[in-house]
Amino acid sequence: MNDVANDLKSPSSARSTPHTETREFRHFIDGAFVASKSGRTFENRNPVDGSLIGQVCEGGRAEVDAAVAAARAAMDGPWGRMPVTQRVELLYKVADEITRRFDDFLAAEVADTGKPVSLASHIDIPRGAANFKVFADVIKNVPTETFEMATPDGGSALNYAVRVPRGVIAVVCPWNLPLLLMTWKVGPALACGNAVVVKPSEETPATATLLGEVMNAVGIPKGVYNVVHGLGPDSAGEFLTSHRDVNAITFTGETRTGEAIMGAASKGLRPVSFELGGKNAGIVFADADFDAAVDGIARAAFVNCGQVCLGTERVYVERPIFDRFVAALKSRAEAMKPGLPQDKSTGIGPLISQEHLAKVLSYYDKARAEGATIVTGGGVPQMPDELRKGAWVQPTIWTGLPETATVVREEIFGPCCHIAPFDSEDEVVHLANDTPYGLCTTVWTTNLSRGLRMGTRIHVGLCWINSWFLRDLRTPFGGSKQSGIGREGGVHSLEFYTELRNVCVKYA
Ligand code: NAD
Repeated sequence: MNDVANDLKSPSSARSTPHTETREFRHFIDGAFVASKSGRTFENRNPVDGSLIGQVCEGGRAEVDAAVAAARAAMDGPWGRMPVTQRVELLYKVADEITRRFDDFLAAEVADTGKPVSLASHIDIPRGAANFKVFADVIKNVPTETFEMATPDGGSALNYAVRVPRGVIAVVCPWNLPLLLMTWKVGPALACGNAVVVKPSEETPATATLLGEVMNAVGIPKGVYNVVHGLGPDSAGEFLTSHRDVNAITFTGETRTGEAIMGAASKGLRPVSFELGGKNAGIVFADADFDAAVDGIARAAFVNCGQVCLGTERVYVERPIFDRFVAALKSRAEAMKPGLPQDKSTGIGPLISQEHLAKVLSYYDKARAEGATIVTGGGVPQMPDELRKGAWVQPTIWTGLPETATVVREEIFGPCCHIAPFDSEDEVVHLANDTPYGLCTTVWTTNLSRGLRMGTRIHVGLCWINSWFLRDLRTPFGGSKQSGIGREGGVHSLEFYTELRNVCVKYA
């Protein structure tokens, strides 16, 4: 059950990009694919070459109202009364159907994001299926509390706690790992007996739509899984999270968006689960396995073109190995060839969009203006003519900046990192913790005691020692400080997706 799936599925049948056909992405409401009442759409473009993939129906209040009403009706209907054993069987079928349609999901995800097929086939799509299976397993084995107690009149009673679904859950998702992150929420939500309304990112509508076909194919009752496409503020995202008939909101995205959604959730006091931004530190001690550390930091900084919330944008290296480490990471960055997703030699895909490219390049400019030494990168790579309209950017490494520099403080969400030397454990603990974020850290050392100490001294939700992005899905996942609220994973997801009800039965 590791994040990194072991079986590499064949990418051979993934449809190639650039795209020549375009399509319409409709909402999935009450078991049917529907267009917006307003008729409004927006474009979905392939980040590899800027070609048009399709038109996305832009949801408004009418679609959100219809989806929430369908979800409520599902809770009041057969889904709300379905025994957990039957629910679980349906979720196993969802997982199997995603696996059966692996190539369709792969093609959709790759076209939406431009990420290499090798990455999506290893991580994104297998995890999409696993997220249903894992939570089906979890819900079958939920521990319950039951006590037999004395009553004041000399009799006795049975007092127990039962977990009940919260009801209608709003699921608001980002674009960096669209299927993986959406199913990470939809899987446990359905396992716990809720109905969902998903608002996928406007950048990546495809796999959420495809999942609607899967739900119908395996017999998930209509209204249990709904998708409303649209934008965030003053659009489907805001209308959904402020809808009074939504019982709880789970969100993954930027910290500032989380603040807006928390404001919406406060009306009606709806609970939230937030997985937010980060400015994660990678720490390399001089006693580390050097090659393993270079490999781990290179992946953490550059994989998925740096668009991973758990990525490393701040690297601290103990001074005796600093120069050697910078040189080694530079070679790794320069070896990452940009290219088409299905090309086996492609080391790095594009950013998600031209808008995000402009944002990342503005950080590259800030680093330059604030006096960074550019070890490598810092701009846009040379691409063949047919890919020039893609959102390509160079993996970039800086040194020489103070801790106050913008690129050392703010989350960039691109393939870049700043590397600074340190001289002592206390110093690096201070540096790593000096951020409003607290998502994760990765520490490289062969000193076991030090590794264990760092696991408690860094203020984060996840601490990896001599590893990165490795996790059993039954363990809790989430961020500290401004990186999140709550923990999801295994039984921990039940805290958010269910409520505990206390039932006391007095024996006659
Ligand atoms: P984003 O916050 O811009 O958008 C996320 C979603 O929220 C989108 O569907 C968007 O339409 C919607 N949205 C935007 N404004 C809204 C509003 N006012 N009300 C309701 N919905 C609104 O984030 P993004 O750019 O899509 O994703 C990148 C961010 O996500 C990064 O900050 C990254 O660190 C974070 N992230 C965190 C985790 C984690 O597990 N902690 C995982 C992945 C990504």
